[in-house]
Amino acid sequence: MDKKNKNFEAKLLNMPYEKPDTYGALSMPVYNSVAFEFKTAKEMEEAFCGLSNDYYYSRIDNPTVRYFENRVKNITDSMSATAVNSGMAAIANVIISIASTGCNIITSPHLFGNTYTFLSSILANFGIEIRFCDLTDLEQVQSLTDDNTCAVFLEIITNPQLEIADLQALSTICHKSGIPLIADTTIIPFCSFDARTFGVDIEIVSSTKYISGGATTVGGLIIDYGIFNWKKSLPLQKWYYNFGKEAFTKRLRREIHRNLGAYMSPQTAYMQSLGLETLQLRYERQAATCLELASLLKKSDKIISVNYTGLKDNRFHEISNKQFGAAPGAMMTIDLASRQACFDFIDKLKIIRRATNLFDNKTLAIHPSSTIFGTFSEEQRKKMDLRQETIRLSIGLESTEDLLADIEQALK
Ligand SMILES: *Cc1c(COP(=O)(O)O)cnc(C)c1O
Repeated sequence: MDKKNKNFEAKLLNMPYEKPDTYGALSMPVYNSVAFEFKTAKEMEEAFCGLSNDYYYSRIDNPTVRYFENRVKNITDSMSATAVNSGMAAIANVIISIASTGCNIITSPHLFGNTYTFLSSILANFGIEIRFCDLTDLEQVQSLTDDNTCAVFLEIITNPQLEIADLQALSTICHKSGIPLIADTTIIPFCSFDARTFGVDIEIVSSTKYISGGATTVGGLIIDYGIFNWKKSLPLQKWYYNFGKEAFTKRLRREIHRNLGAYMSPQTAYMQSLGLETLQLRYERQAATCLELASLLKKSDKIISVNYTGLKDNRFHEISNKQFGAAPGAMMTIDLASRQACFDFIDKLKIIRRATNLFDNKTLAIHPSSTIFGTFSEEQRKKMDLRQETIRLSIGLESTEDLLADIEQALK
């Protein structure tokens, strides 16, 4: 994994522009222009009909956004990268591109709150069935697939349960039946995790998190590795006939995303392109601190349990190590004695901030059951394995010593 991206920074930092900049700008300028002008009606026709790559309207394509997309495409060695204005927009665009009435999607109930609502409430109204199951139980997954399954969708480390499914095994099941494996990889950035080698066909990232470079902007990415054969996909059949392996990307770009209207804005693309430049540096530090802190917190007698898959006795440690390396991300959870103990702890924190979001430069603490999942019923929370005793920590750039001291004083 780490090998693939040894030259991550060099590849990223030296990527040329499509056209030389008039002033020799070292940073890609922000093209805050809605429309782009043409010399002739003919060139205009070609751009609008997809016969040239020229820009014409920034809901569809923009030079600053395309530069960000090309950087992502380049460092992930993918066929295409599409930038949208949030992680949720990325999920919606992907699902709408591949699903149609009568199809089903296999997934786990262990999902990001908004994703859960999008799948289970919104899509259900359009006749798309969501089959919730335990994705770590391969027999269950296999038994749920049928001719109408249009995707297996998962988060590579679920939040906040920290459950990890075997991607290679899932992709084998999927590909045997002509089903794409779609993964939300937000939790481990692509500088340290090569989704393609584990059989992921479409990668979805909330770039709001690591990539934005310290919680500067909300954004999302859709990465297509161009390896999946879309022959069996009903809504993509026409596209497959015309574009083969590019079927998904072509439908996404030419039909879905421009009409849904959630393309990334040039300002956001600028900020996130800058964030990309320090991604590896920040990630390595944050993940290493998280592993170190998790090991230290395990020794505290005031903490009932520490959940981090980098810990050797974690039930997902083996698969975590295989897929994500020794320090699998910068999020952990701790369980305290009660909901009240969690609230007291959070109130006493001095360095760690009381906020949602993940992978800010600042360390953040939240009580998921009363916030992100606060409006869910207790029964729904049970189904999602959410406990009232759990606190989620997203580890930032502070030192392990400072974080440990803050946690220790808050536990007193
Ligand atoms: C934050 C998050 C999302 C949603 O991303 P937004 O950019 O907030 O829309 C989706 N999946 C995961 C795993 C996330 O952490």
